[in-house]
Amino acid sequence: MKRLFTPALVLLTFLNLISCETKKEKPQPKPYKAGVILSFDDAYVDEWYEADQVLRKYSWKATFNVCRIDSIGAPQLKKLHEMEQYGHEIAGHGYHHYNAVKFVQQNGIDQYLDQEIDPMIASLKKKNFKTTSFAYPYGERSDELDKALSSKFKIIRGRAFGGEAPEKQDSYFNNSKIVFAFDIDNSHIHFSIPYLLELLHYAKKNNKILILCSHKTVKEVTENYQTKIETLEFVCKYMKLNDLKFYKLSDLDDLLPQQ
Ligand SMILES: [Zn+2]
Repeated sequence: MKRLFTPALVLLTFLNLISCETKKEKPQPKPYKAGVILSFDDAYVDEWYEADQVLRKYSWKATFNVCRIDSIGAPQLKKLHEMEQYGHEIAGHGYHHYNAVKFVQQNGIDQYLDQEIDPMIASLKKKNFKTTSFAYPYGERSDELDKALSSKFKIIRGRAFGGEAPEKQDSYFNNSKIVFAFDIDNSHIHFSIPYLLELLHYAKKNNKILILCSHKTVKEVTENYQTKIETLEFVCKYMKLNDLKFYKLSDLDDLLPQQ
């Protein structure tokens, strides 16, 4: 009993009280949960639907950035609606899939909005999709474009083209509505499973949201711009084992600092 009240113990208890007080005075911002955004570009609806059937066992959530919405057939639109109803996000990827930077250089930003963005928004709305995010075709963007699109979309996604060390990668959410995705297509020069593992591990360790993009989902790779369903399963399994959260692009809007 005597030892319980030694001066050292009293001092320790006192210090502990002080540190608790300090914590109360300076609340730390609540960090969001580490996670991954899986996003898919273009209009590979049948292939995405097939991948979705395989990956639902992981309760996954993804974002599908659709271009040329008026060329998509009724059966595929039905599939997209079903996917949206399940909990995936349907986002925009251009009415024609123009290279935004080149188009603006040739025709100006007003024409870009008139031809590529406004008809896309109108058509997606007419077809009953709740679209609040946009992914640039080819990841081609500029500050001028970001500015012009920022009132039209909550989240705007470009591409992170490099294969640098994870701490230098741009493909993590950085509290901005302009975000960048790392491409996990097999043909992407910087893609490999060990590197993807490094990126995932960094997200887990540092409480980050990793943003990935892909195009056509396939069982076997036959050409460029294809991602193996196996790769997606690898990501989903890693996420389940390491308790990472599936985010959609639009989820990031809730995490942005208050203006
Ligand atoms: Zn595209």
